[in-house]
Amino acid sequence: MAAVTPSTAGRTPLIAGNWKMNLDHLQSIAFVQKLAWSLKDARHDFAAAEVAIFPPFTDLRSVQTLIKADDLPLAFGGQDLSQHDSGAYTGEISGAFLAALEAKYVIIGHSERREYHQESDELIAAKVAAAHRHGLVPIVCVGETAEDLEKHGPSAVPVAQLRVALEGAVTGKQLVVAYEPVWAIGSGQAATSEQAQQVCAALREVLSEALGAEVAQATRILYGGSVKAANIAGFMREADIDGALVGGASLQLEEFASIAQFRKHVGT
Ligand code: PEP
Repeated sequence: MAAVTPSTAGRTPLIAGNWKMNLDHLQSIAFVQKLAWSLKDARHDFAAAEVAIFPPFTDLRSVQTLIKADDLPLAFGGQDLSQHDSGAYTGEISGAFLAALEAKYVIIGHSERREYHQESDELIAAKVAAAHRHGLVPIVCVGETAEDLEKHGPSAVPVAQLRVALEGAVTGKQLVVAYEPVWAIGSGQAATSEQAQQVCAALREVLSEALGAEVAQATRILYGGSVKAANIAGFMREADIDGALVGGASLQLEEFASIAQFRKHVGT
């Protein structure tokens, strides 16, 4: 079996845990402490695989305080942000507030936001611009539904979504792309690593057309959709997959720590 290696272009893999609407601020403190201990016990090399968590907004201050006080090598971010910076937008969260909490990342355009909050590609582009205005690294989610897959094949919809999202990107600012087939999210039915690689390669082409070959080579593309410890190594062997956006399994401490330790899964 081929060895799991960091991607050929030297991009540092990112394992990101999207907690969705789970764990309150007290639960999040206990979880982060245990996750940090577990990774420390396993001698996790954070320079070789970055680990980031995405708790609900109400947990962020507690998570920030803990990470800072204990100097934990974990990154964190918001699950969404407003396209606006401030003003009369009840319930919205400004990128400025996330930046003030020292969040590094923000997830934008998750399929649950697209579906339940009718987020359009244009709104997602405006949110990418907002993230960049505030020095946050957007994790731009794209992916096709089962119906899209049947009608248009695997790449057409994610490619079109990314093209529009990148209209909001500011030259010279970092971003991450997450390919998340909607049919794979929470279904237990992950894409095969070959399927995911095919789409991620097409997404890298879009990055190259929009932002240039150098930026495309430096940009991390994650796969998301029913990732678990048992399938992560297969994804990480692919040339254009640089990490994972993990939902359900990110709430299971040992499973998530094991996903982050994907290099140990060679031969499984
Ligand atoms: C997600 O919510 O982004 C996700 C990929 O979920 P899951 O890992 O549970 O499929």
